[in-house]
Amino acid sequence: MATRFLIDAHVHLNNYHEATRRPTQENVDELFAKMDECGVDHAFVITSYRVDLDRPSVEELLSHLSKNPRISIIEGLRWRGDERTDLFCMEERIRDGWIRGIKLYPGYDKYAINDPSLESVFRIAEKHSIPVVIHTGDTYSKGSKVRQAHPLLVDDIAVDYPNVKFVVAHLGNPWLQDTAEVLYKNDNVYADVSGLTLGEFTLDFERYIAHRVKEMVMYMGDPGKQLIYGTDWPLVKMKPYLKFVGELALSEAQLENVMWKTAATLFRVGEEELEQAKAARLARIEKT
Ligand SMILES: [Zn+2]
Repeated sequence: MATRFLIDAHVHLNNYHEATRRPTQENVDELFAKMDECGVDHAFVITSYRVDLDRPSVEELLSHLSKNPRISIIEGLRWRGDERTDLFCMEERIRDGWIRGIKLYPGYDKYAINDPSLESVFRIAEKHSIPVVIHTGDTYSKGSKVRQAHPLLVDDIAVDYPNVKFVVAHLGNPWLQDTAEVLYKNDNVYADVSGLTLGEFTLDFERYIAHRVKEMVMYMGDPGKQLIYGTDWPLVKMKPYLKFVGELALSEAQLENVMWKTAATLFRVGEEELEQAKAARLARIEKT
């Protein structure tokens, strides 16, 4: 798949297993190594709804990655835990261009997508024209409330905040048809295809999920307009995911949109920056 650029719009730098806990810098190094291996020019790194030994804060990630042309940071909202996001500080980071989007973790963080308390967050997103990415669908942890992350709830906020752009992460899996309806109905809603498996696909599961994504596209129309490529790395491996998207039988023009253009437009990553990112990637590969 040869598109002009390649953006992975959904990666993390958390540790997911205590046994493999390691310093953030090592995770950063591995991210760049994988991006080089898979031809990824630019990645959106998303911070968590909690900060602990395994989940670095947005401030820590900024100290490792600030204004690197290959990375955009999306700030995870910490809304219900002991230490919560200071919206004033978050707005400063947005204003100064350190972060390019806000991520909500409904279900994990024990609030629903349409919780009225989020109005202040959506007003900030609207004021600065930055997108809000929302975890939707299955929650990786058993202690989370999955109903609160149902993709149909995105319709409520898409209608109430028509000037905010929303990104439904993981296509709302397993509620792909509900997501298709929300995308079809609302022009301010997008979706990323990340995290549809863990690790790599088995042959059967890949076939099953590719079929369901195609069905969704059949209902909602042009995937080039609203779908965004992302993996959920390191929970998902990058290479099998590129192969999976290859199975979706998208046209060349649709692939240009899905693999980078829609995300770049939405999150305002300029083509000049992407050229720099690509040059930096190619320079690193030459060195090795
Ligand atoms: Zn994720």
